[in-house]
Amino acid sequence: MAETDPKTMMAYRYVPNELNPVAQRIPIPIPAADEVLIKVLAAGVCHSDIGILLPGDSINGFVPRSTFTLGHEGAGTIAELGSAVASTHPNLKVGDYVAVWSGKPCAQHSCAACAAGHDNLCVFTTGAIHGLGLDGTWAEYIVLHAGSAVRVPASPARVPPRVVCAATDAVLTPYHALKTCCGVRARDTVLCMGLGGLGVNAVALAKRVFGVACVVGCDTRASAQDDARAAGADYAVGPDALLALLAEKHLDVDIAIDFVGVQTTFDACFAAVRPGGTAHIVGLGTDAVEYRTLKLMSKDLTLKTSFWGTRAELAEVLQVVADGLLEPKVTSRPMSQCVEVLDNLRAGKVQARVALVP
Ligand code: NAD
Ligand code: ZN
Repeated sequence: MAETDPKTMMAYRYVPNELNPVAQRIPIPIPAADEVLIKVLAAGVCHSDIGILLPGDSINGFVPRSTFTLGHEGAGTIAELGSAVASTHPNLKVGDYVAVWSGKPCAQHSCAACAAGHDNLCVFTTGAIHGLGLDGTWAEYIVLHAGSAVRVPASPARVPPRVVCAATDAVLTPYHALKTCCGVRARDTVLCMGLGGLGVNAVALAKRVFGVACVVGCDTRASAQDDARAAGADYAVGPDALLALLAEKHLDVDIAIDFVGVQTTFDACFAAVRPGGTAHIVGLGTDAVEYRTLKLMSKDLTLKTSFWGTRAELAEVLQVVADGLLEPKVTSRPMSQCVEVLDNLRAGKVQARVALVP
């Protein structure tokens, strides 16, 4: 096909055993009856993308050994409706500004997880996730099940695409962890371990949306600590200073959320949380972490984990952003620079989030 053929597009793709995305010109996909074609306006870069590309990583083990377009965060406008969409999803029309919820839940939406409203778990068990096996957002267009295109309750001028795409994971995942899984309360003291794309939004959500009494941020990078303070953290320190800070300020951590997910951060969260509190793991920094059973029991701790968030929660998150309660910090870069952006993320040089623009 000629380079300029209007029916093709640039896509940045996972190719088994390649350590970086491979740029390929591929056909613009055609939506099936129950799908929509979305023109991508922005596509986020998550730390999980590093794991997807790294042989031996737990996320790499999760994705199929086939070629697919990367990117599980996205924002765009509907370019075309599949033939059945006008009747199944009459709220959607060409031109609508939407967030990409990158799951493709079971065909009938009738499995036990979907029936209970846990569509995030349906797509986890079936592995049907755009950017983690299905073609994702690091391209000019993506086709999506119509139910996974979530309308943005604001114009692109008011809530820009780079912010909407961060909402689909970097905000949604901590929202689900804090609200649904940990049942965060206004009187709580919350520790956010790791203040990158997800963690800094967790700080902002805890303070500005859930009105949490005290939020402590912890990160090895001083710049990420600064970001957390700007997002509303009452305190932000490095790991070495954490326990001393908690002792000095007489802080009892009710909920400690680990957005890094390696042994040292897991241990630090365990050590920091009060007796009877909750340690919650979101980060996938390593395939396995160990805990000492009696140490856990001696504090009556609850250990929790969570995976991403639901479509219903994404609609709530978009409303929060549209209402101006939360302003995720996101930098835009051309999509052609995705390899450089991933290198910066690997090197700890990214502040908060980067969105790729096709
Ligand atoms: P990120 O790279 O943007 O942020 C990670 C932060 O952790 C950085 O600020 C870094 O400086 C800090 N950090 C690294 N090592 C540390 C240590 N030892 N102590 C304290 N801080 C440390 O990553 P992200 O995009 O925010 O993703 C965070 C993690 O969450 C990744 O492992 C990602 O794969 C995972 N993730 C999980 C889910 C889920 O559903 N459970 C969803 C999205 C991402
Ligand atoms: Zn992610």
